[in-house]
Amino acid sequence: MNDADTVRDSSGAPDPLDLDDFRRNGHQLIDWIAAYLEGLESRPVRESVEPGDVRAKLPEAAPESPEPFEAMLADLDDIVVPGLAHWQHPGWFAYFPAMSSPAAILGELAAAGLGVQGMLWSTSPAVTEVESHVLDWLVDLTGVPQAWKTTGPGGGVLQMSASDSTHTALVVARDQTRDRTRAPAEEMVVYASSQAHSSIEKGARVAGYGHVRLIAVDPVFALDPLALEAAVNDDLAAGLTPAFVCAAVGTTGTTAVDPVRTTGEIARRHGMWLHVDAAYAGAAMICPEFRHHQDGLELADSYTFNAHKWMATNFDCSIFWVADRKPLIETLSILPPYLRDSASETGAVIDYRDWHVPLGRRFRALKLWFVLRSFGAQGLRSMIRTSASQARELAEWLDADPRFEVVAPTPFALVSFRHAAGDDATRALAEAINASGSSYVTPSELDNRPFIRVSIGSTWTREHHVTRLRDLIDRVG
Ligand SMILES: *Cc1c(COP(=O)(O)O)cnc(C)c1O
Repeated sequence: MNDADTVRDSSGAPDPLDLDDFRRNGHQLIDWIAAYLEGLESRPVRESVEPGDVRAKLPEAAPESPEPFEAMLADLDDIVVPGLAHWQHPGWFAYFPAMSSPAAILGELAAAGLGVQGMLWSTSPAVTEVESHVLDWLVDLTGVPQAWKTTGPGGGVLQMSASDSTHTALVVARDQTRDRTRAPAEEMVVYASSQAHSSIEKGARVAGYGHVRLIAVDPVFALDPLALEAAVNDDLAAGLTPAFVCAAVGTTGTTAVDPVRTTGEIARRHGMWLHVDAAYAGAAMICPEFRHHQDGLELADSYTFNAHKWMATNFDCSIFWVADRKPLIETLSILPPYLRDSASETGAVIDYRDWHVPLGRRFRALKLWFVLRSFGAQGLRSMIRTSASQARELAEWLDADPRFEVVAPTPFALVSFRHAAGDDATRALAEAINASGSSYVTPSELDNRPFIRVSIGSTWTREHHVTRLRDLIDRVG
């Protein structure tokens, strides 16, 4: 850009394309993010806002002329931050972690800086090849079947969310089942446990399935295979077509683990697609001691886990693996003339536009690649182990105190408990914890009774934050 281009106009308005300004503003923004993260501890985990509070601070109309970056930065402080739940707060024990990390933030920024589209291999070969390679690394790192590598019959792709991964699996299974049985989707049945994530039901509805059966669970909230087999037989007797079953490794409610192998054997017997939803717990598989929870994966047709939950990578970054990529590509491939391409036609390359619904795709693998290199596998393992052991200790402490009841096992890093004095006491305890400002938990329900979920594993949570939560529970419980 020459000097004439960067001269400010007579009003002194900044030039939005000035790269010196960009450099300066970028440094300022990184400083701002670091200060935000450092300062989180002195804020309440959740700011208190009423509906409309944020919009009331925004101008009526979009600006007519360029504004300086300082004004945007100031509004981050004045308008945005006071309207947030601070998911990166060290006292965040709600939902599941939505981890981020310095490497992930920078990878995200680098992807935006490159601004490329990776829908085809040829539209930016590095987008596809880095993604395939990093997901093949993860096959080794998490001990899932070797056949899922892109160098084998299967392959991995990054999707926006586990909901997208599951929806994609449902669509492929529907077409496979139709080709095999000629049954219409309205007569096909999807099975999952009563504890399964709502994305199964939503995905089934969007994909046009006629029936979803939520199967009974055992006393530790895992899918009961006998109940599954019975439901499948009932549906067959009624002339319906069992098509898809989801086994959860780590349910959202209590991180219960469905029996993958037994579920897979039932799926095989009836020609059903087996999808494994390990959205949260999949990250733990980087540590070999957790892998017994997903014994039987060689029977799975597809698998999803979110690096954007418990693997230090900011949203969105959901890994989707298939054991065989052929049916996936057959189902989703569309070839208008402007997307025909010689590299694709030789079959020598992967075109990820055929692996999900969107066409355009950003360089999502960059942040995951940065995270894996910045922590190293050792660093990620140690992070998982630390939060899992903090959760186990908290569960043991609660279990030993007669005021509290632990309501589900803690196979990963979620503690599920309630107050022994009853539902009102449980609700009051959750409210007191959340009103403290220093810790935030999710009140939930199991069999129509309230319980409290404590999910440990935010990036900045340290031992003393968990101790502070325990002391708080002790004091107000
Ligand atoms: C979080 C979660 C999901 C949904 O994940 P998204 O990426 O938000 O769609 C699905 N299944 C389970 C078990 C989860 O914990």
